[in-house]
Amino acid sequence: MSEAFDVVVMGTGAAGLSAALSAHSNGANVLVVEKSSLAGSTTAMSGGCIWVPRHHYAERMGVTDSREAVLEYIHAVSPEGWHNREASAWAAFVDYAPEMLLFLEANTPLKFNPNRDPDPYAEEAGGLPFGRNVSAAPMRIGMLGDWKDKVRQPTSDLRLSYEEIADTFLFANPKKWVPRYLPRLAWRKLMNMRARGNALTIGLLKGCLDKGIEIRLSTPARRLEMTNGRVSGLEIGADDARELVRIEKGVVLASGGF
Ligand SMILES: Cc1cc2nc3c(=O)[nH]c(=O)nc-3n(C[C@H](O)[C@H](O)[C@H](O)COP(=O)(O)OP(=O)(O)OC[C@H]3O[C@@H](n4cnc5c(N)ncnc54)[C@H](O)[C@@H]3O)c2cc1C
Repeated sequence: MSEAFDVVVMGTGAAGLSAALSAHSNGANVLVVEKSSLAGSTTAMSGGCIWVPRHHYAERMGVTDSREAVLEYIHAVSPEGWHNREASAWAAFVDYAPEMLLFLEANTPLKFNPNRDPDPYAEEAGGLPFGRNVSAAPMRIGMLGDWKDKVRQPTSDLRLSYEEIADTFLFANPKKWVPRYLPRLAWRKLMNMRARGNALTIGLLKGCLDKGIEIRLSTPARRLEMTNGRVSGLEIGADDARELVRIEKGVVLASGGF
């Protein structure tokens, strides 16, 4: 008899782990499969700056924003004609992005900080000079226990957070900024704290592990099984250990692509 799950999530990036948390909080029995021997992938190596228009920190930054302005901006910076196909997805994103951030802060140890990065095309209709970006505050990797050695690491070990780098002239004037940051860098090294996308991965992973969500590394998803036009199973596992798990509700394909 094969194993059965309500939801199987493929991938341990930010998309996969967030989806796993969301499905679990809605009562689903969730399995996450990751083909790599390490969790986090691109997300864990990234800058970790997340575009979350109308996030709950915007007001305290003195930012005035609206649903209409964000939708106008997305429309303005998208290729011609895309709104015909994607308008409903844009609206869903704009409506739920602020809620997503609150959900992650409530269901993981993650805390987010706003930064002053502009929209990439701030001069376009609906664009803002700042107020729509956040990134995860630094996290202690030791909180993952046995999982602490199973997170992909970025190529540079700089432990400053996104806003500490982006909101200053750190790279333009390191002589001024590095001495200011030295005490906190030393503290973070001592506490083995990670920043940016790595912090995001640690927080999401900890949230999943604390809720008992099963995560299997070195377990590629290989083939969807279809029955009467709907997904009913997923073949997973290494070449010599393939198995078919039954799917009761759905599969989330969060396999990246950056
Ligand atoms: C250096 C760098 C800096 C960046 N900075 C930023 C930034 O500041 N802001 C921003 O918005 N974006 C940034 N990006 C881009 C961003 O990191 C990615 O778009 C994002 O992390 C993608 O997340 P994801 O969850 O979709 O996919 P990923 O993080 O790529 O995760 C996908 C996972 O799926 C797994 N997988 C794939 N196929 C299978 C399979 N068959 N079975 C099981 N598992 C599978 C992969 O191994 C991987 O672990 C940056 C990227 C890089 C490289």
